[in-house]
Amino acid sequence: PNMRRKLVAGNWKMNGSLAANAALLAEIKAGMAAVAVCDVALCAPAPYFAQCQAELAGSAIALGGQDVSAHAAGAYTGEIAVSMLQDFACRYVIVGHSERRAYHAETDELVAQKALRALQAGVTPIVCVGETLGEREAGQTDTVVGRQLQAVLNVLEAGQVSEIVVAYEPVWAIGTGKTATPQMAQDVHMALRAKLAEKNSAAAVEVRILYGGSMKPENAVELLAMPDIDGGLIGGAALKAADFLAIVAAA
Ligand code: PEP
Repeated sequence: PNMRRKLVAGNWKMNGSLAANAALLAEIKAGMAAVAVCDVALCAPAPYFAQCQAELAGSAIALGGQDVSAHAAGAYTGEIAVSMLQDFACRYVIVGHSERRAYHAETDELVAQKALRALQAGVTPIVCVGETLGEREAGQTDTVVGRQLQAVLNVLEAGQVSEIVVAYEPVWAIGTGKTATPQMAQDVHMALRAKLAEKNSAAAVEVRILYGGSMKPENAVELLAMPDIDGGLIGGAALKAADFLAIVAAA
């Protein structure tokens, strides 16, 4: 048992439309009352922030972004400032998702600057870390995720550590249907919490560490029962209301 309230965050990635979102949001809202015992967030594509903000108003579901610029404003074509997230009441923003790291060459240092930019504005960064299959097979999992998390810790004040959310997302488990076993995930979550404790031991106990990577209703209960797994970051299953609600119910 711990003090951490679980968080289930959906990551819609580059999916959706006005019509599809309306249907999905209606179904999730209708089902939430029965299951909401944890914090719930939806990280939507930015063009749909206005729609999601309006639909989620008055609900217990928070809105989040999927990325944020490291810069405050200016000549950064295509990027999204944290002030823009705040205009639509985004409470969370994903930073360092493995798809951003892989397809947009985001470095540990850039991810750290994004996390800091979000935090300074009062938006909670969900800092994603995770190893590739090759890195796991080479026995480098703890080294890799430790390096990714350390880059963020390097730019934070000790007092800011409690304000972040970490998501452990093994790259080989994302969208593949392969899930880390509960024990594999727990081992990494424990190592990440130890890393957080090196910076601020009191805060480390409070930080929520989510698991992400093919989490679905069939495996959520077991994963969420592990002592250091404090919620989930949900990709594919977040696009089906029934699956997302079942995961929320498991948390
Ligand atoms: C993700 O990309 O954050 C994720 C966990 O995706 P999926 O649930 O589809 O594996």
